Amino acid sequence: MSEETCDVVIIGAGPTGLSAARRLRRAGRGVIVLEARDRVGGRTWTEHIDGQMFELGGQWISPDQTALLALVDELGKETYPRYRDGDSVYIAPDGTRTVYSGEMFPVGESARTEMERLIGLLDELAARIGPQAPWDAEDAAELDSISFHHWLRQQSEDELACENIGLFVAGGMLTKPATTFSALQAILMAASAGSFTNLVDDHFILDRRVVGGMQSVSVQMAEELGSDIVRLQQPVRRIEWSETGVSVSTDDLSVSAQQAIVAVPPNLYSRISYSPPLPRLQQIFHQHQSMGLVIKVHATYDTPFWREDGLCGTGFGASRLVQEVYDNTNHGEEQGTLVGFISDVNADAMWALDEETRRTKILEALAEFLGPKALDPRVFYLSDFGAEEWTRGAYATSYDLGGLHRWGPFQNDPVGPIHFASSDIAAEGYQHVDGAVRIGTATAERILGEKS
Ligand code: FAD
Repeated sequence: MSEETCDVVIIGAGPTGLSAARRLRRAGRGVIVLEARDRVGGRTWTEHIDGQMFELGGQWISPDQTALLALVDELGKETYPRYRDGDSVYIAPDGTRTVYSGEMFPVGESARTEMERLIGLLDELAARIGPQAPWDAEDAAELDSISFHHWLRQQSEDELACENIGLFVAGGMLTKPATTFSALQAILMAASAGSFTNLVDDHFILDRRVVGGMQSVSVQMAEELGSDIVRLQQPVRRIEWSETGVSVSTDDLSVSAQQAIVAVPPNLYSRISYSPPLPRLQQIFHQHQSMGLVIKVHATYDTPFWREDGLCGTGFGASRLVQEVYDNTNHGEEQGTLVGFISDVNADAMWALDEETRRTKILEALAEFLGPKALDPRVFYLSDFGAEEWTRGAYATSYDLGGLHRWGPFQNDPVGPIHFASSDIAAEGYQHVDGAVRIGTATAERILGEKS
């Protein structure tokens, strides 16, 4: 076991850990980043599969994600807009396919009115409650004790409106059934994106991508830090701590430091053993933040054939196997790429199938939106973060029903010299790369005494 010393040891080389390392290095602090995988970037992962570049993890940036946009700019990287010229496709619960333009799904007048009313209601709640401390709202306990599914049905008797609004947070963001997370959690998601209106606006929320892929942001930060600082294939197993410092151990390395930042997703906090054990509060609430599950479907075709049909590639269907599909053609490529999402129970069902049946069912689901040409991709691949030991789900973690108001107030508290940072406990940019950059930087600044 080799032994090293630095000022701050960081566990995890995702965008949170690397943003923290970068900020601390700028202030002249000695830093070591220990990363379990053989690559940096965590849940951002740009990979070539059969010669085709896919964004297996996080990729989109919205205009309000200014911390990430500033970082991308500082690193000298370019962004480009998602292709969205043309009409979208909506598939109703009865299977009816409608081509439409504009923001609102082409549903009947009453469902449309109800959807607009629910969006307005959620906008008001998001504006009043905000992303910083949703647990402080006077009705926080009440909103955290009812599932988003049941809350929607308390507000409206229109089942289709409830299902469509539920999709934006359940399948679309938290990737858990709407019965399993609270209305308060849904409001936090909306507040962190600026408003519920922003969440339902794919032009806003899925605005831009990074040329060369989102992982390149982390790769470049790691290159700037250098391999003396960022150590790969170093899964942290144990943290020994006292009020004055930490000793962090992997299988073959021990790093002593004044402070540590645990920059791993909250569902993995308990995979590390702490000596002495963390206080009762952390031991309890670290069990109540769990990952959602989504399959990100990638399919590349010789051409973006849907554009010839006047379609932009966007499709929605809250009751379908693939609930959302978008044109995900990479910058400068002639071949066309689609990305689709299959979440929670539908993802379970897909992983239970053999590979050939799974592929057939998923391609048929894409074809429902964009026609039979979708059945025959040149390259087809499914992101499988659920099988990744150092993530265990996708996109991010959220609390059980009732957990956000009960434990949220403590989630950012350090324990002695141990700080916890993750996009999943960020306020603005919650569950997104932007939140990772914000909380990584803010945690470093707290250590530097620049932030309370
Ligand atoms: P992570 O990226 O998870 O990084 C944590 C790091 O810690 C990992 O590298 C991991 O290997 C390491 N680690 C874990 N345990 C240990 C240990 N014991 N020892 C050492 N290292 C350890 N966000 C967006 O903004 N836009 C999107 O379009 C988007 N889409 C997404 C699609 C998918 C499929 C997924 C999975 C995520 C998506 N996200 C998106 C979310 C975004 O990727 C995350 O919010 C972001 O990567 C979180 O950064 P992080 O550094 O906090 O955590």
